[in-house]
Amino acid sequence: MAVLARGLGIPAVFGVSHLPLGSLNRREVVVDGYSAHVCIQPGPALRQKYLKLVDDKAELARDLQALRHLPALTPDGHHLELHVNSSLFADIALARDSGAEGVGLHRTELTFYLFDRLPSEEEQTSIYTHILQAMAPRPVVLRTLDIGGDKPLPYWQINEPNPALGWRGIRVSLDQPDSFKTQLRAMLRAGMTCPNLAILFPMITSVSELSRALALLRQAQEELLEKGLPAAWPRVGLMVEVPATVYQIDTLAPMVDFISIGSNDLTQYLLAVDRTNARVATLYDSLHPAVLQAIQLVVKRAHLAGRPVSVCGEMAGDPAAALLLLAMGVDQLSISLGNLLKIKWMVRTIPHRHAQELLAEVMQMDNATPIRERLHHVLREYDLDS
Ligand code: PEP
Ligand code: MG
Repeated sequence: MAVLARGLGIPAVFGVSHLPLGSLNRREVVVDGYSAHVCIQPGPALRQKYLKLVDDKAELARDLQALRHLPALTPDGHHLELHVNSSLFADIALARDSGAEGVGLHRTELTFYLFDRLPSEEEQTSIYTHILQAMAPRPVVLRTLDIGGDKPLPYWQINEPNPALGWRGIRVSLDQPDSFKTQLRAMLRAGMTCPNLAILFPMITSVSELSRALALLRQAQEELLEKGLPAAWPRVGLMVEVPATVYQIDTLAPMVDFISIGSNDLTQYLLAVDRTNARVATLYDSLHPAVLQAIQLVVKRAHLAGRPVSVCGEMAGDPAAALLLLAMGVDQLSISLGNLLKIKWMVRTIPHRHAQELLAEVMQMDNATPIRERLHHVLREYDLDS
């Protein structure tokens, strides 16, 4: 729900307790997704404040539309590729006209929710073809199924005491090779009509997991060839979402074509904070120095191996964090649609050189709060803090 709401630009607040649902009928409610507040029957002053906020945001969104077809170039000529995250047809249709350079992360698990069983190879082929065609010739990264953890499939119940550390992502796919290869064949078949396909493996934790995933992809390709369907080998990427992967990046990076940092999970696992637990929500911060150091390390090492790096977690859509990612030399951001133009505005306003000076300064800081304050101070100086 959170992923979808963000993709479609719908304000949403999660983890609200004691909501008097029974007595909300016909009452006015403010859902403030920025500050995570729900306000029932606001008084006139508050109501006015929010109506003005809605107007201001709408005006900003209209102004930002002018940036749609301009390149994401800093004033001193540094290009940062801006792609979007998608998960359903609804947001692919919006992504097509958004000015995005491609889809940097398509979460295939969301489509699986529309079925009451695993979709067949034919069904998946048709869905993936539609997605690739909608964006062609721009690249589309299809991520293999990432269920488990906070994304359980209703018809594939996984009951575990600690799902975030349990059977999820690539672990499920490798343990169910037939379903995994069905998905891989469907992706490869879609790539036969549209050569803009890239495939991404989620939650990789070890070299052997990546080797097995690649071997199954090779098998899927051979199975198609035996049926007279000569599918091309696509670009393949690996997600960096677990600390173990950060420290094995020297070995893992040369095995793939690109790296995609999933900062949502990387933050959760580095800080040991469940990203869906409201009680510890204030501890979850992607600007924590440990997260920034991990990302910087991955970018440096992946570049040494000659592999481009994308960041596809939610931090890529936060202008303060994106400023640091730009300075670190991240090649691509993949962002929720609603934040795309805001980030392009930031990129086109702040010189890369200044971003790098700022990065050097904040990497000396010990806590996320002063880092955030410093970054917002700079965004305000450039009139970007809206
Ligand atoms: C991430 O972990 O940053 C990511 C993009 O994957 P998801 O949010 O789907 O787990
Ligand atoms: Mg993830």
